[in-house]
Amino acid sequence: MFYWFVLAVAGLAHPPQRFEFEHAAMGTTFRIVLYAVDAERGSQASAKAFRRIDALDRILSDYDTSSEISRLSTTAGSGQWIAVSDDLWAILEYSNSLAIETGGAFDVTIGPLTRLWRWASRREQLPDADRIARARAAVGHTLVEFDTSVRRVRLTAPGMRLDVGAVGKGFAADAALEILEREGIHRALVDAGGDVVASDAPPGSSGWRVAVPELHGGTVATRTVRIANCAVATSGDTYRYFEVDGVRYSHIIDPESGIGLTTRRIATVFAPNATEADALASAVSVLDGAQAAKLLDARRDVSGSVYELDSTNWQTVYASSELPH
Ligand code: ADP
Ligand code: MG
Repeated sequence: MFYWFVLAVAGLAHPPQRFEFEHAAMGTTFRIVLYAVDAERGSQASAKAFRRIDALDRILSDYDTSSEISRLSTTAGSGQWIAVSDDLWAILEYSNSLAIETGGAFDVTIGPLTRLWRWASRREQLPDADRIARARAAVGHTLVEFDTSVRRVRLTAPGMRLDVGAVGKGFAADAALEILEREGIHRALVDAGGDVVASDAPPGSSGWRVAVPELHGGTVATRTVRIANCAVATSGDTYRYFEVDGVRYSHIIDPESGIGLTTRRIATVFAPNATEADALASAVSVLDGAQAAKLLDARRDVSGSVYELDSTNWQTVYASSELPH
């Protein structure tokens, strides 16, 4: 009884304080906001979380030729089975299930096409039909084989390249939050440049304030939602796109046509974790309204919206009946 009393008083003397940390990785800035009893505890925990993100970057980067994913891609068409790390396995397996579910609209074998469009964008010239056709021949989730008993993967067609740009940052945000949890930090938010995941709410609050897009009479505004033990991701062509011949092609590519989306879209997805929110936001960017509805409505704990610019006005392509507020 006496000890409980002492602990309670000590707790009151040191109420948790808010700390914020930033770290550049995966081509974006990761931000961690957390509540800890002192700065030391907060900075040590966030440093560990950032180290975890850096380790994932070394596995997942398609820019780094020595990353695990790049080394796997170089074995495409060789017939070799390659053992992969638990992290890469988890991402590839999840991505494969989403590729099957979306009929290939979401597909992390998109690499040959993203590479082609990056190259075209640098040269400010459209890739010709021949090059697009050749890249498309090396894209397709059915070209990846999984050996589930020993966690090995085989890329069956030459020229294949994996690109987990649509899900990697979400996965890293989840992994970072898991580290914070393990370090005893239970009230935290991790923002991977727009893919956000949070654990328990700040003291005395119902949730972490996050800004999400919302339509107002044909224009896109933002509204603030409060999230706790939940994630939200926004996908859109506002910041990242390829511009060729004055036309803006989204960095999200329709695997069927091999061409970056030219319709301007903004997709927002709320999900239990950032891996799902990130991947689903990218997936519904490619799908039409009915397909987006089917994908998101089928999931409990998932909701979202998709807006599209039709010449002058933004329109709602899809919106869940209930969105967090
Ligand atoms: P961001 O949050 O940075 O806008 P997204 O989550 O929207 O990124 O994912 C876009 C990235 O996903 C592209 O840069 C590319 O690497 C990859 N990608 C492009 N098209 C597809 C697709 N159809 N399926 C899966 N990944 C894709
Ligand atoms: Mg995404």
